[in-house]
Amino acid sequence: MAKENGLLLTEYKPRSELVVEREEITGPKFPVIDIHAHFGPLTLGPDYEKRFDPKKEVEKLKSLGVVYITNLETLWGAELERVVNKIKPYDDFILTFGSVDILRLDEPDFADHVEETLKNYKKTGIRGLKLWKNISLGMKDKAGKYIPIDDKRLKPIWDWSAELDLPIVIHIADPVAFFRPVDQYNERWEELQGHPDWSFCKPGLFTFEELMEQQESMVAQNPDTTFIIAHGGSYSENLGWVGQCLDKYPNMYIDIAARLAEFGRQPYTSRKFFTKYQDRILFGTDCGPGWYEHLRYYEFFETWNEYFDYGSGEIPGQGRWKIYGIHLDDEALEKIYYKNAARILGLEVK
Ligand SMILES: [Zn+2]
Repeated sequence: MAKENGLLLTEYKPRSELVVEREEITGPKFPVIDIHAHFGPLTLGPDYEKRFDPKKEVEKLKSLGVVYITNLETLWGAELERVVNKIKPYDDFILTFGSVDILRLDEPDFADHVEETLKNYKKTGIRGLKLWKNISLGMKDKAGKYIPIDDKRLKPIWDWSAELDLPIVIHIADPVAFFRPVDQYNERWEELQGHPDWSFCKPGLFTFEELMEQQESMVAQNPDTTFIIAHGGSYSENLGWVGQCLDKYPNMYIDIAARLAEFGRQPYTSRKFFTKYQDRILFGTDCGPGWYEHLRYYEFFETWNEYFDYGSGEIPGQGRWKIYGIHLDDEALEKIYYKNAARILGLEVK
């Protein structure tokens, strides 16, 4: 890198000189149900209990127009109970999802474990199931093989979720660039420099394309199970493909969590997509204590604002670009903000 002739990429922090109108957003036009947030160890670490006061978090969220928020932890048993206890007085506002122990997959009583766990969830007010990308991108079975998400051995999960009417929020894969070589052509190069462990361009792992095939076959083979595929249906870079899946599979929904950068950089495509699939999209942020980015989401959905930041920080975390508002009409906005989630989770919104 010839420094004397220019700047290092890390030093380059251009400031936009664009002068355009910007509508200020101080809250959402309608109530909001945030279907994707975290109040436990997944994002806060093992000492999560010391890291927040649920009363303060609930007050903050209410001031942002949120009426319910989910707590998506990939936990079960005593670990899940701990999380539930932490938010206990507010469990009519923070709705917890639980998980199952996938590593018991090859044990003869796996189906019993799933049945017992999910029946207990139904009884104790756990609202649904959360499955994380560690299944498709980390775990290995007894034979030492990675577990495809459409693996037949997972069937008891889909069956019992359908039977007990527990929706599943499932995170499969990650941004496409995380599966590509980390080189000068990678659009998430800077992000991957900061988090080298987020790269899944490694021999032996499923490719992004394989994961999308598995995702589609999981949804197709279990038409009675409600799947909320997190992060824009796993493929917000290709909303045409996500739309085709939504057309084919009425049991598939998506959340929009942590994909504002993607939706906002393709405003024309996004506006058509969010309008056409307004019954199938759920609002979510991936936020948690101390970090709420809701206002940016509202700005994206409700305004025609141009060229604004999708996240905080001097260098945008997910790529060096800005986003544009799509000004959805009220009908679509209401469904995406709360009506779809209220219907799926059986919640009343006043
Ligand atoms: Zn998440």
